[in-house]
Amino acid sequence: MEKYEIQKLRDLPIEGVAERLGLRVVRHKALCPFHDDHHASLSFSVRRNSFRCFVCGASGGTIDLVMRHLSLGFREACRWLADEHNIIIDHSPLTIDHSAAQKTFDATRYERFFERPWLNEEARKFLFEERKLDPRVVRWCRLTSWKDRQGVPWLQTPYYDRDGKLVGVQNRNLIKGALPRFRFPQGSRCGIYNLPVLNLLKPGEALFITEGCSDCWAMLSAGHKAIAIPSATLLTKRDVEQLSMVNGQCSMEFHMFPDRDEPGERLFLQLQKVLPSLVHHQLPPGCKDFGEYYQSR
Ligand SMILES: [Zn+2]
Repeated sequence: MEKYEIQKLRDLPIEGVAERLGLRVVRHKALCPFHDDHHASLSFSVRRNSFRCFVCGASGGTIDLVMRHLSLGFREACRWLADEHNIIIDHSPLTIDHSAAQKTFDATRYERFFERPWLNEEARKFLFEERKLDPRVVRWCRLTSWKDRQGVPWLQTPYYDRDGKLVGVQNRNLIKGALPRFRFPQGSRCGIYNLPVLNLLKPGEALFITEGCSDCWAMLSAGHKAIAIPSATLLTKRDVEQLSMVNGQCSMEFHMFPDRDEPGERLFLQLQKVLPSLVHHQLPPGCKDFGEYYQSR
């Protein structure tokens, strides 16, 4: 692929690309597909032809948006964009793109943090006082914490695949209201959360599906087995693939307490297409998500 061809893809109108990916763009904003967003935190700059989320810090141009949203490599994302817009590009191998090369997740850099998890005061307060989580769940999930050079405390959540291989890391800012709220190391694949729990499921046992890892911790603390999908906004192709694989591999019952809002219900319907037996549970009035319900009990 030639440089000018890549530029052609970078110059495609960013909002049009977002819409092709299934995002609903209203007044240069959309719900961010990279975190559990309910307030349209993703902004588009028409002038710079770029996107930025003020909550999770995701940002970039057309190719980055496709790469992240569809979990594709640089070349595959270019091909997707070209195909979607009927642009003919040279199919010869791409010259090495350094920004793409850096985007592989280096698990060896992070594994050791989760071998001996350590919770600082802010993390303990957040997990045990505010969220009222069961310490056994926090240990099972190997949550750990650290402070950056500015002294900002972060909660660090490891994402494993079913075989226990570390595939991504989510950092959550523990200062209330501070931005960015989340940070992800390069190449992190924070798709379906808590996949190792599938190895503990007995045939026919109930598996709950939650939105985001903190609801998943609440569900586990309430004594249920649970996995989490990353975002209420839109299921990525990769999430759907992983879920149908889970559905095919194990015999279990799927359950869900959708968030009490429009994105929550929309997500339930999307999931039901992949998991036809998914059972809907209603949260009591006044509880917007399962985490809130769990804390109020
Ligand atoms: Zn975001």
